Amino acid sequence: MNENLSLGRIAGIHVGLNWSLLVVAALIAWSLATSLLPSAAPGEASSAYWTAGVISALVFLASLLAHELAHSVVAMRRGVKVEGITLWLFGGVSRFSSDTSSPGAQALITFVGPLTSLVLGAVFYLVSVAVGGGAGLLPATLSWLGYINITLGVFNLVPAFPLDGGRLLQSLIWLRTGDRLRATRIAARIGMGFAYLLIAYGLATFLFRVADVMTPNPVQAADTITVDDALHGYVLASRHSTFPTHDAGGRLSGLLTLTALKNVAPNARTTTLIKDVICPLDSVAKASPTDPVTDLLGASDGCSEGRTLVVVDGRLVGIISPSDINRLMQRSMSGRSQMPAGSA
Ligand SMILES: [Zn+2]
Repeated sequence: MNENLSLGRIAGIHVGLNWSLLVVAALIAWSLATSLLPSAAPGEASSAYWTAGVISALVFLASLLAHELAHSVVAMRRGVKVEGITLWLFGGVSRFSSDTSSPGAQALITFVGPLTSLVLGAVFYLVSVAVGGGAGLLPATLSWLGYINITLGVFNLVPAFPLDGGRLLQSLIWLRTGDRLRATRIAARIGMGFAYLLIAYGLATFLFRVADVMTPNPVQAADTITVDDALHGYVLASRHSTFPTHDAGGRLSGLLTLTALKNVAPNARTTTLIKDVICPLDSVAKASPTDPVTDLLGASDGCSEGRTLVVVDGRLVGIISPSDINRLMQRSMSGRSQMPAGSA
């Protein structure tokens, strides 16, 4: 990518910017000022959010630069000729005009970049806790800077070229086999696998909504019936192992699982009501039909056995089980995925 704006020399290294990064910085400032910061620290003036947003975007650019400078400074110390650094849309690129001769040196040069991002992230987080721990504009801004730097560090460690992780993996295989070419080939192949995973994840994020994977309008059981009635009337009569429940007024009240039913002693089954054994509504993950499917991946896993209830205005419209998600992942990874037919 081309360098459009020179920032001069830092530590003897030429630093330049590509215009794409200015667009990213503007987007970051805008989204921080108009949505992230107002929801994290409500009650401030709009000018305060914009000031914090613009400063954060600039500090983020400085963090990217610190990541690249770490690569370049260590490279110079190891005798590699550094041409310069260009910051662009996806971070930075350090251009080296000579190569390293040892895998150890290459591993070190590569690793210090993500390490710098992770350390910066940890420092921002610690300072955010020190100045108030989440409440207020300053801690919220600092904790965003911590989050973005840690994300940057972790993302760069994914072992896929051209990310640092790909190069790091290549150095480690090179170190082990002593064969640089073979290491490059193996690392490239592993990188392809990760690239496919990232693409599948990206596809799942952008294409699939909760409505595309849920089982619509699941059978609901009244929570006023007994365990014995639930076993005979619902569980044995269908292939499902969980049932959403509603109370006497028809309102969604929780989730009945087979495990909960089995835990009731046989002689108590005709006297125990299922409202006493259900997984209460507060403990069940809930989603809206338009949420991205990837939101479900971190869903809580307590008594709900990984189920998510799909709810609109408190009304149940669907249910999602872990096997629904697995099926979707397999479909999108095998490349046989169909475009979902629009989501609700
Ligand atoms: Zn890097």
